[in-house]
Amino acid sequence: MISSSEMQEKRDLVTVETVDEMQSIVRAAKQQGHTVGCVPTMGYLHDGHASLIRRAAENNDLVVVSIFVNPTQFGPNEDFERYPRDLERDLNIVNQAGGTHVFVPSVKEMYPNGARSTIHIDGITEVLEGAARPTHFDGVATVVSRLFEAMEPTVAYFGQKDYQQTLVIRRMVESSPLASVHVVAIEVLPTMREEDGLARSSRNVYLSDTDRRDASIIYAALRAGADLLARGEHSLPRVEAAMHSRLCELPRLTVEYAVAVDAATLRPPAAVVPGMTIALLIAARLGSTRLIDNVLVPIDL
Ligand code: AMP
Repeated sequence: MISSSEMQEKRDLVTVETVDEMQSIVRAAKQQGHTVGCVPTMGYLHDGHASLIRRAAENNDLVVVSIFVNPTQFGPNEDFERYPRDLERDLNIVNQAGGTHVFVPSVKEMYPNGARSTIHIDGITEVLEGAARPTHFDGVATVVSRLFEAMEPTVAYFGQKDYQQTLVIRRMVESSPLASVHVVAIEVLPTMREEDGLARSSRNVYLSDTDRRDASIIYAALRAGADLLARGEHSLPRVEAAMHSRLCELPRLTVEYAVAVDAATLRPPAAVVPGMTIALLIAARLGSTRLIDNVLVPIDL
């Protein structure tokens, strides 16, 4: 049963389909001194997304959640067509988490001239996800820049789940005139997990029951690496070996990478020194499902 207050709230959720309309709503709100928090997503929302929306709602007057399955960040043989979509369900989640607006542009609205010009961020996109998915981060940077143009956020919220993506977006904002025109602050929030540690992801619906159960090994391997670092192990090859040996317990899992790197550069540091943060990152396939996860380990002073 939906209570009358829930119905009232649901009625208040505004759906916006065009960049022009989005801009005029946000600009009018800002003129009244309101702040705008935005949460870019590809929909099929789960509690990870909801945590970002809740934080945005705590700190902002307007909370705009974009739902756009961005074709340019998928490679030719990836899952763009079958990516899960359920707008009705998403609207309820946005509403309950405190969103005020949902921005649901069409592909034509986002790319009126096709995807002819793209944004490329150097330095951080050549490795890991960028190596496995060569056009992925150009697609991400391009769409996020376009979304920022439409939503003109005061603060934009992202999940640590996609750690490399957060570095790309931070760099994009730092190096873009957008950042000086609109104040775009980036806030990154922790990864929300299932009880067994599996990072919540829209793609988890692809997993069979067996794969779903076995997928928790990824977080177990990250924990094994993090525990070793916390016990004072400073040899990153040994930390990586510990993660690999945990992952090897599941022969059906195809490991793409399981690395321990400097969290600032995503490359092996010259030395592990107090004050730095090590990022442990894993990408692996179970059946046809590709999963990524990471943990950050600060090295004690
Ligand atoms: P997506 O819809 O997968 O593009 O994700 C939209 C945003 O939600 C991104 O900033 C993700 O990093 C974030 N996100 C996805 N999964 C999680 C999670 N398990 N915990 C926290 N944030 C997440």
